[in-house]
Amino acid sequence: MRILIVEDDDGITSFLVKGLKSEGYATACAPDGEQAIRYLGATDENFDLVLLDLGLPGTSGEEVLRVLRRRDASLPVIVLTSRAEIVDKVRGLELGANDYVTKPFSFAELLARIRAAVRSSAQSASTELVVGDLRLDLLTKIAWRAGRRIDLAPREWALLELFMRHPTHVLSRARILNEVWEYGFDPGNNVVDVYVSYLRKKLNIIGLDPLIQTVRGAGYRLMAP
Ligand code: CA
Repeated sequence: MRILIVEDDDGITSFLVKGLKSEGYATACAPDGEQAIRYLGATDENFDLVLLDLGLPGTSGEEVLRVLRRRDASLPVIVLTSRAEIVDKVRGLELGANDYVTKPFSFAELLARIRAAVRSSAQSASTELVVGDLRLDLLTKIAWRAGRRIDLAPREWALLELFMRHPTHVLSRARILNEVWEYGFDPGNNVVDVYVSYLRKKLNIIGLDPLIQTVRGAGYRLMAP
């Protein structure tokens, strides 16, 4: 378990590092939003949870959350706010925070929130995939977009699952062929393009942004709205 602490107050940071360490959690610290975004975007960094102070100098905690949610819909985030106003809490939750703790807080309270957030994320991680307004229930094999059920054929399902496991990554036709069709399927065949177009039609809901982008010469990618 590794936790990213995004906090500009050194006193709070060392309090958190010390407490979390004694509970067996590894930590990394970002004193500002820029550093947090670098950590969260680095491919060699892996976090199980983020503690995010909203009141940061420069890039705000809200902006960090916005950037994070574009890339990763499921990483649990607990907002630390010294602002008692309910409106900040609501905004944090709207932006995709899982929970919030108002400063000053006790370590025991924070620990309970961390455990709850990790537990619920582990449960949903095993049974569903969520990217933006798209949700795949891996148990019932039902897909939803913005609350509307989308019926998919098995190959369409496999294709969408592949995209949702790698949101915003460009997936080449060869890779899609290998993962969704039998290995060694004739790559001269335009089956990938055909299925991407089926999927686009099914995911297309009037008023909502298209989700699957063609990257010329490279493949396709799923954009989180
Ligand atoms: Ca602060």
